[in-house]
Amino acid sequence: MRIEIATLFPDMCEAVLSESIIGRARKAGAIEVHCHNIRDYTLDKHRRVDDTPYGGGMGMVMQAEPIYRCWQAVCEQLGERPHTIYLSPQGKTLTQNRAREFSQMSSLFLLCGHYEGVDQRVLDKIVDEEVSIGDYVLTGGELPALVLTDAVARMCSGVLPSALCFEDVSHFNGLLEYPQYSRPEIWEGERVPEILLSGHHLHISRWRQAESLRVTQEKRPDLYQKYLEEQE
Ligand code: SAM
Repeated sequence: MRIEIATLFPDMCEAVLSESIIGRARKAGAIEVHCHNIRDYTLDKHRRVDDTPYGGGMGMVMQAEPIYRCWQAVCEQLGERPHTIYLSPQGKTLTQNRAREFSQMSSLFLLCGHYEGVDQRVLDKIVDEEVSIGDYVLTGGELPALVLTDAVARMCSGVLPSALCFEDVSHFNGLLEYPQYSRPEIWEGERVPEILLSGHHLHISRWRQAESLRVTQEKRPDLYQKYLEEQE
């Protein structure tokens, strides 16, 4: 899996992508993530990448040409047309299911907008879908692109020790995860549930399933209802 991030702030992305699990997975070659500075693709002698909006209004708009040239260069490097996503508050909200589908694609191109957004003409030309990380507006697409990269990368083979690490978590099967406990057995007078110390795998698994249902019903009744409907 290759993820290509087109941004005006590659250092901001690299700082996050070089750390922790994703950083180690990149070093080990389990996933490839490359950050491209859109400014490197401008033909403007002052390296300008934005201009005022036609029709007037506040702020600046990212121009089409540098983005298009960046995308073309990446297509050439890859030898294929990557699935192209514009991170945008106008897109469909990212879900665990969609992230899993992305993780099965061979390459993704993530376009990070900034300022007032991006010239519509280049979006019409290259973008397959717009993805949002929630109904609020951020200053740029970098944090959403990093969120998407993290959610996708952890489901790529070789990034986590086993598929169980991402299958047995909240949202994978439509439910939230059961509560987790670690040492010590008693902390501030509170004991770890007895069943988790029993060593009885079947009982532990039943308890976790029941807790998973309880927690989902309590915290996210909308998800719980959907889960019940899907079981019918
Ligand atoms: N003018 C745009 C609008 O009203 O739809 C908002 C532009 S926003 C200030 C700048 C950039 O941040 C966007 O081009 C997009 O790439 C990114 N962005 C902001 N909020 C986002 C969100 N919730 N999900 C994904 N990307 C977002």
